[in-house]
Amino acid sequence: MPNITILDQNTINKIAAGEVVERPASVVKELLENAIDAKATAVTVEIKEGGTTFIRITDNGCGIAREEVPLAFLRHSTSKIKSVEDLFTVSSLGFRGEALASIASVSQVELITKTSIGLTGTRYQIDGGEEKTLEEIGAPEGTTFIARNLFYNTPARKKFLKTPTTEGAHVAELVEKLALSHPEVSIRFIQNNQNKLHTSGNHNLKDIIYTVFGREIASNLLEISAKKPEISIQGYIGKPVIARGNRNYENYFINGRYIKSSVICRAIEEAYKPFMMQHKYPFTMLHFTIEPELLDINVHPTKMELRFRDGEMVYQMVYQAVASALAHKELIPEIELEK
Ligand code: ADP
Ligand code: MG
Repeated sequence: MPNITILDQNTINKIAAGEVVERPASVVKELLENAIDAKATAVTVEIKEGGTTFIRITDNGCGIAREEVPLAFLRHSTSKIKSVEDLFTVSSLGFRGEALASIASVSQVELITKTSIGLTGTRYQIDGGEEKTLEEIGAPEGTTFIARNLFYNTPARKKFLKTPTTEGAHVAELVEKLALSHPEVSIRFIQNNQNKLHTSGNHNLKDIIYTVFGREIASNLLEISAKKPEISIQGYIGKPVIARGNRNYENYFINGRYIKSSVICRAIEEAYKPFMMQHKYPFTMLHFTIEPELLDINVHPTKMELRFRDGEMVYQMVYQAVASALAHKELIPEIELEK
């Protein structure tokens, strides 16, 4: 059960600060991560006009108690860490306590939420950071968060939004990344009333790869599974035959977080070198589970870059896992026989 408190100034100063809301995709990212942190097993993301006028995220997670709802919208209020020490062991996706405050300050927000012990739900409305209603309402367990008319009160920022088509494409890409990073959560994505993605939540990463990237990629994968006490790697890498001309297909997730890592990237590309033409990059979809103490995730506001305490150990482990998968498997593409 969450217990939301405001971080002290010392902790706030240690958290890399930055604007978290830049476009509809950043709103969806924060809300979807909150749903996952709330231990939801099913989440629906719905957008209209690329998310510029309407974003709705519904989850079946733990919900927020009525007396804590207004608190959740204050800056630096979070239930996920209490102090600086916790920063080094954080296992949730969020921890800065900034997202709801930032989203509510630049859109018209409606929240409906209910906890398992709450007898009734709560409906809360906040427009441009100004509280409108806090009332009792009948609601299922979980949280529905609606953000309407992003940047309606900040025309200068609204000008930087691209067309609904472009913004919608960014949202779709983001939802796909989160679906791939959390095969244990069933994620549904609806764009302009059309179903765009629906993952089962049955932990099967290969199914999601098939859904997102199609059959050619899904049928040319090698499984990776490596384990040490403090770090494990699970997932798939593509046979060299599905190599691509850019790095967009290199995906790594650490403790459920999509990240960029030059250490991992170098290790993988080095292992592929004997099998690859120049300027070709592999398809990789690797999940790392690492003791949080070995990581420093507090380096960038969007939480994408990540530092390892022992980069060399990670490099060696990744290199060996990938190199041995490539060495031991048949690298001829699987050919579908015509019926
Ligand atoms: P952070 O995720 O960094 O803690 P947020 O501003 O995103 O900060 O959220 C503030 C708090 O509101 C969270 O710590 C959590 O307790 C609560 N919260 C937000 N979204 C949800 C949700 N979908 N379900 C349950 N609790 C939520
Ligand atoms: Mg959050």
